[in-house]
Amino acid sequence: MPVKQAEFFISNSDPAKCPKPDRPEYAFIGRSNVGKSSLINMLTSRSTLAKISGKPGKTQLINHFLIDNEWYLVDLPGYGYAQVSKAEREKFAALIDGYLTSRPNLLCIFVLVDSRIEPQKLDLDFMSNLGERGLPFVVVFTKTEKLGPTKLQTTLETYRAKLLEDWEEVPDFFVTSAITSTGREDILSFIRPLNEG
Ligand code: GDP
Repeated sequence: MPVKQAEFFISNSDPAKCPKPDRPEYAFIGRSNVGKSSLINMLTSRSTLAKISGKPGKTQLINHFLIDNEWYLVDLPGYGYAQVSKAEREKFAALIDGYLTSRPNLLCIFVLVDSRIEPQKLDLDFMSNLGERGLPFVVVFTKTEKLGPTKLQTTLETYRAKLLEDWEEVPDFFVTSAITSTGREDILSFIRPLNEG
């Protein structure tokens, strides 16, 4: 079932100012340019809900969108943008950390990775950190229409093996493309039962 209603709710730079945690919420995060805005627009069937940017690393805000008056989709700032200062990176880490540790209604974090590139230390470290804190997350592979089925399978297996080096279990994987809308129904079908508790 597609999303019926999707509206921008609030942007802020202070986790304490996020909306009252009175609805389930799901956060989307990944390296700058991974395709996060495109995925959010694809999931919500809105072409301009999240801004697609040619300039990665611009948005450093926590954006809440209200979906079907039922749950929040949270667009977190992209990480790993090479051209930011150490001070900015630290500010970013504190913002994300503040967010992740202050939302009792955060039911799952969707960590986006570009399916065309090898597992990156930055992404694996971010996932390890979530795992260590017991924060539930899944991995979303973006831009998969660029890969043939064999290459895609190899990519998924490589990631699985990498994660199994540190963990006994591997989180759920979602294969997506904003171009072909692959993965939309899989992700929405994953979220809906969680909303019902
Ligand atoms: P963000 O910085 O993570 O929000 O990434 P954007 O959504 O702004 O996308 C970054 C770039 O990747 C843009 O040029 C998009 O057109 C492109 N892109 C995003 N999703 C896809 C996809 O599924 N397939 C392909 N081929 N390109 C994509």
